[in-house]
Amino acid sequence: MSNEAQGMRPIIELSHVEKHFGKLHVLKDINLSVQKGEVVVLIGPSGSGKSTLCRTINRLETIDSGSIRIDGELLPEEGKELAKLRSEVGMVFQSFNLFAHKTILQNVTMGPIEVLHTPKAQAEAEAMELLRRVGVAEQANKVPAQLSGGQQQRVAIARSLAMHPKAMLFDEPTSALDPEMINEVLDVMVELAQEGMTMVVVTHEMRFARSVANRVVFMADGTIIEQGDPDEFFDNPQSNRAKEFLNSIK
Ligand code: ADP
Ligand code: MG
Repeated sequence: MSNEAQGMRPIIELSHVEKHFGKLHVLKDINLSVQKGEVVVLIGPSGSGKSTLCRTINRLETIDSGSIRIDGELLPEEGKELAKLRSEVGMVFQSFNLFAHKTILQNVTMGPIEVLHTPKAQAEAEAMELLRRVGVAEQANKVPAQLSGGQQQRVAIARSLAMHPKAMLFDEPTSALDPEMINEVLDVMVELAQEGMTMVVVTHEMRFARSVANRVVFMADGTIIEQGDPDEFFDNPQSNRAKEFLNSIK
């Protein structure tokens, strides 16, 4: 039976993706399909190409060959169509990347107003609802520097959600946070996953991976080495590369 017939629908689909930075071959024949509602955790050693992979999905990096489809549509090269498709996949980075001189509310309403042409009042109402969901509504009129790292990262998530993305990419969203703030961000991500958001998450938070991920994808040296069920992967990795990596982060 085809995926379609089983009710599966790939939201993100990479096929034979290749990417070089000069002589450095960072992505090697990457094939990855993420189904609607699926949560994929991407792990691997530093420098293995995880961030580059996320960035190509959002077209923050071009690819040399292969193809990337978002909800069935090929990523365009540039222009308006690209802005539209880019907004369909939200991205949350390790550094929160909020606009420092705008209020929290303005950070969340900017995209909807400028890209989606949502009327201001509606954008603000939606933003306040999102800020409530991630637990920072009281901070709406402050600027980012007045918030803790954990609060800023939750704002960054709300800002992405305001664009009504079809999928969310998280690139080590908790690695710049003080330990006591990690869970407040992970909790928001767990909730998103439970609500059915399609997610790709680069993280070494194994408890999150075990409890939330449908699949773990292990990358090293620009290649997907193995992938599978989180418990199986963490308890019984097949490749030596994965075994070494898991031992190194224990
Ligand atoms: P990861 O996120 O798994 O740590 P990255 O995707 O950041 O890995 O990096 C993969 C490789 O590509 C590394 O060797 C890194 O130094 C290199 N790299 C990343 N971005 C660039 C860039 N803009 N120019 C040149 N090399 C880069
Ligand atoms: Mg990275």
